[in-house]
Amino acid sequence: MSDPITNLSKLCIHTITTKPWPIETAAANFAVKGAKGMTVWRDALNGRNIKATGEMVRSHGLEIVSLCRGGFFPNADPVKRKIAIDDNRRAIEEAHELGTKMIVLVCGSDPTQPLETSRDQIQEGIATIIPDAAAAGIQLAIEPLHPMYADNRSAINTLAQANTMTEVLNSPWVGVAIDVYHLWWDPDLEQEIIRCGKNKALLAFHVCDWKSPTTDFLNDRGLMGEGCIPIKKIRGWVEATGFNGFNEVEIFSTAYWQTDQSIFLDNIITAYKNFT
Ligand code: ZN
Repeated sequence: MSDPITNLSKLCIHTITTKPWPIETAAANFAVKGAKGMTVWRDALNGRNIKATGEMVRSHGLEIVSLCRGGFFPNADPVKRKIAIDDNRRAIEEAHELGTKMIVLVCGSDPTQPLETSRDQIQEGIATIIPDAAAAGIQLAIEPLHPMYADNRSAINTLAQANTMTEVLNSPWVGVAIDVYHLWWDPDLEQEIIRCGKNKALLAFHVCDWKSPTTDFLNDRGLMGEGCIPIKKIRGWVEATGFNGFNEVEIFSTAYWQTDQSIFLDNIITAYKNFT
């Protein structure tokens, strides 16, 4: 049982994966099933004392791998860009209180302006908050999103773009989150994972599967093994860089959220062992 997949020692689950559960229920059940990590979405903290919630999660033996999410920097309106910076500073404070060392950035995009302009604003936004992140000891992980989200969720759509941005920003507090759902199609993926590893910028690895057909662009992600993503192959590339972090199960699925979450969690564990 020394295999880190079989013994679940690298299994992290995002709170949004079992969205119907409050974070207290999720933490208890993830731990009972043997997971060792949790990534916390900010909505899971609503109405709670953040520090106490972090302690509650750790009391179950779970490491808080990251806070999801910051970002959404671009906007044609400079006032709204300033609001976004303030919100990212708040996210850094929340991450610090929660007791995690990483924030995942969904970088944003504004469909009323060119993608290049949105990318410039993302770079400027991240550069602005680096001092805050450094002071709090929080790393910022740029997550490239599938190009189907280029209009309004992220103008960073390939690992090459994320790598270039981390190289330009050149800070130990900025790296990349690799999510197989967003990047599996990219013919340059292996090379860009190698490049990311050489930059020591590979901070996080997210897994789920791409169902075919996919019926909803946002909330129809599959369990590992249910779709067409070569997850094991990609994990092999990620681990070949020396990455030793968690495999984070991040599934948004309206269909699964409508099912019994305890059964869904059992199915996650089985799918993780067999197809990650
Ligand atoms: Zn992700």
